[in-house]
Amino acid sequence: MSAIDSLPPLRDVIETHELRARKSLGQNFLLDLNLTARIARQAGDLTGCDVLEIGPGPGGLTRGLLSEGARRVLAIEKDARCMPALAEIAEAYPGRLQVIEGDALEIDPLAYLTPPIRVAANLPYNVGTELLVRWLTPKDWPPYWQSLTLMFQREVAQRIVAAPGSKAYGRLALLAQWRADAQIVLNLPPEAFTPPPKVSSAVVHLTALAEPRYPADAAVLNRVVAAAFNQRRKMLRSALKGVAPDIEDRLHAAGIKPTERAEQISLEAFCALARAVAAP
Ligand code: SAM
Repeated sequence: MSAIDSLPPLRDVIETHELRARKSLGQNFLLDLNLTARIARQAGDLTGCDVLEIGPGPGGLTRGLLSEGARRVLAIEKDARCMPALAEIAEAYPGRLQVIEGDALEIDPLAYLTPPIRVAANLPYNVGTELLVRWLTPKDWPPYWQSLTLMFQREVAQRIVAAPGSKAYGRLALLAQWRADAQIVLNLPPEAFTPPPKVSSAVVHLTALAEPRYPADAAVLNRVVAAAFNQRRKMLRSALKGVAPDIEDRLHAAGIKPTERAEQISLEAFCALARAVAAP
C-alpha cells in the first residue's frame, strides 16, 4: 500500500494522541489512507476549491482531501483530543488546513471560506442528516456549496437517492433531488471503520443544480410533502385534507389522482401540486 503523504500511519496517530473512539461522538474512524483518498476523489476536482470538512477526527479524510489537491480545507471538529493530530497535518500542508474546534451545528463556516466551495464529511448519522437538510434548505439558491460528498448509514443513503414506488422514497429523496443531483458513489462494509459500526455505510455525492429541477415555492412544497408522507399509507385526498381547501380539485389540476398515495408521486408531480396549492 503506497503512502499518500509523509505523515505517520493513522494507527500510529491514534496511539500517539490516545484517540480512543468515543461512542457519544459517533466516532468510527477510517484508517486506510488509500480509501480516504478514494473518497476525496469522489468529491470532484478539488484543485482551486475550498473544502469544508465536518468531523475530521484523527484526519484520515482530511489528508485525502489535501493530497488530492484541495486549495484549502476548513475542518470543524468537536473533539478537543483531535487538535494535536490535526495540527500536525496543518504543519505538513502549510497554509492549506484551518481547524476550528467546535460543534458544526453551531458554527457558520461561510466567513472562513472562499468560493468555489465543496463539502466532504464522514459524520455521525444524526448530525449528518441534520446538516444535509440545512445544506439543502438555504434561504437563497444556488447555495454556497457546489457539491456535498457525505458518508451515511447505507439505509439513509438509499433514502436520499430513492425513486418513486420504493419503500425508501420520501421527504429526504424529494428534498435532495429537487435542487441537486444525488447518487451513491461508494458502498462501505462495517469493517472499513475502526471500530466497526453495526451497519453498512455509503458515500453520497450531491451536486447543486443552478436552479430547482421544477418550479415551486420551497415552503409550500415542504408543507405538501410533509403532510403527504406523514400519512404515507393514506390516499392523498385525505392525507392532504388540512393543507388547502378544495384539495381534490388541486390534485386534479396537478394531474394527480386523489386516490393515489404519496409514495407513487414523482417529484415533478409534487412540484405541480405545490403550485396548485399556492394558487388562490
Ligand atoms: N472523519 C474522520 C474519519 O473519517 O475517520 C472521523 C469520522 S467519525 C465518524 C465522526 C467525527 O465527527 C468524529 O471525529 C467526531 O468527534 C466528530 N463530530 C461529532 N459530532 C460533531 C459535531 N456536532 N460537530 C463537529 N464534529 C463532530
